Amino acid sequence: MWTAIIFSALAMTAIVAARYLASSGVFALATSLRLPGYHARLGRQIRREIGWSLASAAIYGIPAGVVAWGWQEHGWTRLYTEWDAMPLWYLPLAPLLYLFLHDAWFYWTHRLMHRPKWFRAMHAVHHASRPPTAWAAMSFHPWEAITGAIVIPLLVFLVPIHVAMLGLVLLVMTVMGVTNHMGWEMFPRTLVHSRLGGWLITASHHQRHHEEYKCNYGLYFRFWDRLCGTDKGLSANI
Ligand SMILES: [Zn+2]
Ligand SMILES: [Zn+2]
Repeated sequence: MWTAIIFSALAMTAIVAARYLASSGVFALATSLRLPGYHARLGRQIRREIGWSLASAAIYGIPAGVVAWGWQEHGWTRLYTEWDAMPLWYLPLAPLLYLFLHDAWFYWTHRLMHRPKWFRAMHAVHHASRPPTAWAAMSFHPWEAITGAIVIPLLVFLVPIHVAMLGLVLLVMTVMGVTNHMGWEMFPRTLVHSRLGGWLITASHHQRHHEEYKCNYGLYFRFWDRLCGTDKGLSANI
């Protein structure tokens, strides 16, 4: 049994690491084409970002691997694979619920981590990226990585979701985590400045968090920032 659990944790760590290297690699390349010179003089920072991110991959991979093992071996979690196991209307609702709950958890833990004591211990690593790059997507101190790594493995026990919809959540999580740090906006201005865009977090919003620290704490949605008066709007620099 222990061999199977360890194997699952290692396999998941390898998958998370490969996913990070591939997604950050693609968007870092896109950045070099879009903003030639953006990465100039950031070589040391990027090496640090990759090191912290690979450590985070293990921290994310271990709980995910244990839960995946329990799902396969013991039917843990509320993940389902039959399309009609839940009403069809629930299919698109589940990923929205996951993103909303993840966002709420992120907003409040992130705000806590900006208290001076917590900041130094947990969050300074992430803000050492000035300016952040696509490689900073998982550049977290291990304490911060733990707060992120437990969210999805806990949610799958609480909120039913089709396995394909969970894949969609992970895709959104990966792409937004990378692109929000790459220093330019990939979404059209018409979306970013639209009424819907006013509720969504993309690079122009998160960049301002990295510029000013004490604002724009959210992950996917501007809901909590707007509700709590911490939304300062978009960065003027990208
Ligand atoms: Zn960030
Ligand atoms: Zn922060």
